[in-house]
Amino acid sequence: MISQSHSHHLLLTQSSSFSFVFLPKLITKPTHSLSFNSQSSMFPSLSLRPPNPTTTAVSVSDNNRLLSSDPVPPLRIAIIGFGNYGQFLAETLISQGHILFAHSRSDHSSAARRLGVSYLPDLHDLCERHPDVVLLCTSILSIENVLKTLPFQRLRRSTLFVDVLSVKEFAKTLLLQYLPEDFDILCTHPMFGPQSVNSNHGWGGLRFVYDKVRIGEDELRVSRCESFLGIFEREGCKMVEMSCADHDKFAAESQFITHTLGRVLGMLSLQSTPINTKGYEALLDLTENTCGDSFDLYYGLFVYNNNSLEMLERIDLAFEALRKELFSRL
Ligand code: NAP
Repeated sequence: MISQSHSHHLLLTQSSSFSFVFLPKLITKPTHSLSFNSQSSMFPSLSLRPPNPTTTAVSVSDNNRLLSSDPVPPLRIAIIGFGNYGQFLAETLISQGHILFAHSRSDHSSAARRLGVSYLPDLHDLCERHPDVVLLCTSILSIENVLKTLPFQRLRRSTLFVDVLSVKEFAKTLLLQYLPEDFDILCTHPMFGPQSVNSNHGWGGLRFVYDKVRIGEDELRVSRCESFLGIFEREGCKMVEMSCADHDKFAAESQFITHTLGRVLGMLSLQSTPINTKGYEALLDLTENTCGDSFDLYYGLFVYNNNSLEMLERIDLAFEALRKELFSRL
């Protein structure tokens, strides 16, 4: 990984290419109330299905399985990493009636209060709330350190861990490496963020990618995982079940290009004009959608998706080829 990171760095410093992402904004829904089988608190250590690293099939649901009027079984969800994205997800989770706890490196207690989330500055206290789900929303770069410091012994042995990292093979490898075998693992990537939701007016039609990396066969574990996925179905997301490896392959083609080109355009400080075309406005939107994300996030996409370097090289070559064609006509 170090050598890959190094070669990425070299390439970046030598290149003059482009590249581009999309992310969303929230709708609030009325709070529903039904109780998630509170036996979720009794998940004992159960037989587990082996990890499923070779899934290649892609299935896209048509969003019809859950309606926003269907009752929501509340889950106790502990968010670790309560920055930009953790807070963004919390707003919708709360609006659906789930019970939220949060912990982060920095003090986000006032944001938590505003959202109706219990903020716990001590990670041990968070784990002792015995959540059904631990939702990892930390940066790609910090996830390994966060996992290393988690007091797993304070959690129930059957806790479901969900991550939302934008790179999936990396997240899956670390979760399998650090989590005790009794814990369930669901790797996910909501293909949207606060900025892209703004223009979309909610999550409807936006893609939610997931890979059930390790879900125990017990009925309670299966239904807890389905309840979590139901949060996104209920908001109208297009649910895409896909292996982490396939996700990364596609993401290098879509997400990394989007972020790179958006950042290049951002560096040009483009301004709106009185004669904007639709195409130009799309570029301005793209710039806004991508430059609002932290550079840590972008850097994580580059270093921890094995396909990103090749994509950057292809962008470079395409740019050079275009320049050559232009200058050859002079
Ligand atoms: P980010 O810069 O990727 O992550 C910020 C979060 O990471 C904050 O909660 C921050 O905690 C935490 N963090 C950073 N360095 C840390 C460290 N050394 N130790 C512990 N925690 C640390 O920005 P983000 O937009 O919030 O994204 C969070 C995650 O969501 C990322 O994994 C990203 O890939 C994923 N995601 C983001 C989007 C999006 O649109 N932004 C979309 C899909 C998925 P503090 O705030 O407490 O410092």
